[in-house]
Amino acid sequence: MNNKGLLIVVSGPSGSGKGTVLKQLLRTDDNLFYSISATTRSPRERENHGEHYYFLEKQDFLDRIKNDGMLEYACYCDNYYGTPKDEVYQKLEMGKDVILEIETQGAMQIKEKCPEAIFVFIMPPSMPELRRRLTDRKTEDLETVEKRLSTAICEINLAYEYDYVVVNDTVSDAVEKLRAIILANKNSKNKMKKFIDEVLNYA
Ligand code: 5GP
Repeated sequence: MNNKGLLIVVSGPSGSGKGTVLKQLLRTDDNLFYSISATTRSPRERENHGEHYYFLEKQDFLDRIKNDGMLEYACYCDNYYGTPKDEVYQKLEMGKDVILEIETQGAMQIKEKCPEAIFVFIMPPSMPELRRRLTDRKTEDLETVEKRLSTAICEINLAYEYDYVVVNDTVSDAVEKLRAIILANKNSKNKMKKFIDEVLNYA
């Protein structure tokens, strides 16, 4: 069997609910590893260093890029975000499926570097619903909400580049769709090639 894990890249506009969907999925799949990103943005209320993000000073972040410590990175809404490389590769080697919850510029870098990764875009049901979700969560001021909405339009334009699109209408449906996508990809002919070869070798 090909024992290396799957690399699963999940993007979606801020407010699409991808975090909630992933949290639920992670609760029920022991083989999934959620990659903790690094960022230069300030922690929000109830966010902890090493749990939600590694919160870094800008210079520290830039040094890590220079030292080839990031699998990808992007500047998003005036802050840097990036995926620390080593842990992702270690977990994949161990056979864990690794989830990267990242924005679209970073996802396109992964597409170049790791063409075997699978790409899932989480969509809000509509733009008015996205605005409602961003406003209701009250973590950003109105100016930031407007900025995130216009960023969302650019991001949704990139949904065409992804392998799968999951509409997050209800969280439980979105989780089931994501679970089905992962299961199907674990049984793809690419993932099963080594197994087929082994069976034929002993025929
Ligand atoms: P937030 O500030 O709301 O936590 O995240 C803003 C955006 O940055 C989200 O779309 C989130 O998925 C993305 N993001 C989080 N971590 C990373 C990362 O490591 N790399 C990239 N490229 N984007 C990230």
